[in-house]
Amino acid sequence: MSSGKVIITSPGPILPGTVSTVHAKCGKPTCRCSHDRKYLHGPYYRWTGWINGRPTTKTISEEIARDCHKRIENYKELQRKIDQTVANALDQAPWMQARNK
Ligand SMILES: [Zn+2]
Repeated sequence: MSSGKVIITSPGPILPGTVSTVHAKCGKPTCRCSHDRKYLHGPYYRWTGWINGRPTTKTISEEIARDCHKRIENYKELQRKIDQTVANALDQAPWMQARNK
């Protein structure tokens, strides 16, 4: 007999939010970017998400961005597993079992 206990595991460390890149002008009047309209610095990487209920953006290195991306993919995989598990739970809801008896 099943205990009904559900264990869901993630494929690795997880992280909510998104990683994006931005290109920007530095603002220095002597820099190429102030003369050349198309020249922008970057890419700069940033993570955007919610921390303690507040929308938060963090500027991160390329290496950290890669790690964040991996973790965000793990988080999506975990969410898919949760959605699937919840869907299965509805298939096996108490009223479904009662009807099958
Ligand atoms: Zn510049």
